[in-house]
Amino acid sequence: MSLAFDPARITLCDTHFIAGVPVADRPEIAVVSPSTGAVLGRIPRADAAMADRAVEAARSALVCSNWGGCAPRDRLRALHRWADLIEAEADTLAALEAICSARPFVQARAGDVRITADQIRFFAECADKEGGTLAPVADSSFGYISDEPYGVIGAITPWNFPISMAGWKLGPALAAGNAVVLKPSEMTPYSTLYLAELSVRAGIPAGLVNVVLGDGPVTGTAITGHPDIAKVSFTGSTRAGAAIMENIARTGIKPMTLELGGKSPVLVFADADLDLAAECIDRGITANAGQVCVAGSRLIVAREVADALAAKLVARFAAHRPADTLATEAGFSPIISEAQLSRIDGIVQAATARGAELLCGGQRFDRAGSFYQPTLIAGAAADNPALREEIFGPVATFQTFDTEDEAMDLARHPTYGLCSGLFTRDLSRALRLSRRLEAGTVWVNRYGRSQDHILPTGGWKASGLGKDLGRDAYLANRRRKSVLIDL
Ligand code: NAD
Repeated sequence: MSLAFDPARITLCDTHFIAGVPVADRPEIAVVSPSTGAVLGRIPRADAAMADRAVEAARSALVCSNWGGCAPRDRLRALHRWADLIEAEADTLAALEAICSARPFVQARAGDVRITADQIRFFAECADKEGGTLAPVADSSFGYISDEPYGVIGAITPWNFPISMAGWKLGPALAAGNAVVLKPSEMTPYSTLYLAELSVRAGIPAGLVNVVLGDGPVTGTAITGHPDIAKVSFTGSTRAGAAIMENIARTGIKPMTLELGGKSPVLVFADADLDLAAECIDRGITANAGQVCVAGSRLIVAREVADALAAKLVARFAAHRPADTLATEAGFSPIISEAQLSRIDGIVQAATARGAELLCGGQRFDRAGSFYQPTLIAGAAADNPALREEIFGPVATFQTFDTEDEAMDLARHPTYGLCSGLFTRDLSRALRLSRRLEAGTVWVNRYGRSQDHILPTGGWKASGLGKDLGRDAYLANRRRKSVLIDL
C-alpha cells in the first residue's frame, strides 16, 4: 500500500494555542494512530489555570480588536480570507486530520477541508445580512429587537470529523462577533490546532481562536464551568452532554448548544428503488466506519422486499476493503481506538448471544490497526442492546414490518431523535411520514447531508439542544435584546 504523503514530514504540534502563539505544557495524553496502533505523540491536559489563561486571552482579544463591535463586513472579509487559506492548505490540513483519525486523507482533502471552508464562507455572509427587527409597538413608543455577541464561547468537539466539527463551532461564533476557546478531542487534536494558526495568518485577531488540549473530565469541565465563558457549544455523546449540563447547573447557568448521539432509523417501503436504498444505506452506515452521529443504524424494511434488500446489503458490506487513512486511495476507515472496537464487538456478540442472527460481519478485520467488518444483524428482540444503544461503528440492525403504523412504531426510539431516512416512491407517504418521524432531520430517498449549509442540524429528545449549521447556528451565537423607548 502506498501512502499519500510521508507522515514523517508532518510536524505534529503538541502545544496549546493561546493568544495566537503556541503554549507548551506537560505532555500527558498519548495520541494513537487507529490505522496502525502507533503512538504519534503526547499532548498536555490543560488544567483550570490553563483554561483560565485561554479565556483571559479571548476576553482581552475581544476588547483590543473590537471584533464584536466592528463593521460586520470586516468580520466577513477576514473569515473569507481564512476560508481561502484553509483551501490553499488543504494538503496539510488533510494530512493532520488523517494521521490520527478515521478520516481517509483523500476524502478529507477533497471533502471535509473544502466543506469546512465553504461553511465558514456561509457563516461569514450571515455577519452583515442577519440582523434585528423593528417591533410593532404603540406610536407613543419605539421598540426594536436587536442581537449581540455573547463574548467568549466555549466549544468542545468530538473525534469523528475533527476539522468539520471545529468549523461548525468556529465559523458561526466568529462571524457573530465572539471569541472562542475550543477543546478538540484528545484523540484528534492536530487539524484543529492548524486551523487556529491559519485564522491568525488570515488576519483574524490573535486571541479570538484559542485551542486548549486535554480530556473531558479535567479540561472540558474547566471550560464549561468557567464563569467568563458566556455560552457552551458541544458536540459529542449524550453521556458527556449530560455531564456538561450538570456542571453548568452547578457552576452557574449559561446557554448551551448540545449536538449529541443518535440511533437513526431508515425505513424502506416496498415501492422504493431498492438499488438506490441499498447504496444509500450502505454509505449511511459504513462511511467513517459508522462513526457518524447520523449513521443510519436501524433498518426497518417492508417484509415483501426484505430478502432482496438484505442480499444487496450483504454483498455491498462484504465488498469494503480496509485501508490506512493515509493511503493514496480511500478505503474503509478504522475504528478510532481499541477500546471503542471492543465495545462495538461486545454489543454484537451480546446481540447474537441473545438470539439475533448475524447476516454478515461480526468480527475485526484480520490485519493491523483497529478495523471492524461492516455488520448486519437481523431478528434482534425489542430489548436487545443492539437496537437500543448507539453503537458508533459499522453495525446495522435489520427489522421487518407489514404496515405503515408498525414501521412508525419500530422507528420511534425511546430516547434518541437525531435523524431518520425514508425510501418510497409515494410522495403522499413521504410527506405524511416525514411529519410523524420524531427526529431533527428527515432524509427521503437519500441518506446523508447535502452541501446546503442553510439546513440546520440538531437532535430532538436526548439527541440534543439547539442547532448547528444554517442561520440557526449563527443566531445561536448572538443573544437577543428587546429595546423599548417612550417617545
Ligand atoms: P465524547 O462525548 O466522548 O467526547 C466529545 C468531546 O467531549 C471530547 O472532546 C471529549 O474530550 C469531551 N468531553 C467528554 N466528557 C466531557 C465532560 N464531562 N465535560 C466536557 N467535555 C467532555 O464523544 P466522542 O466519542 O468524541 O464522539 C462520539 C459522539 O459524538 C457520538 O455519541 C456521536 O453521536 C456524537 N456526535 C454528535 C454529532 C451531532 O451533530 N449530533 C456530531 C458528531 C458526533
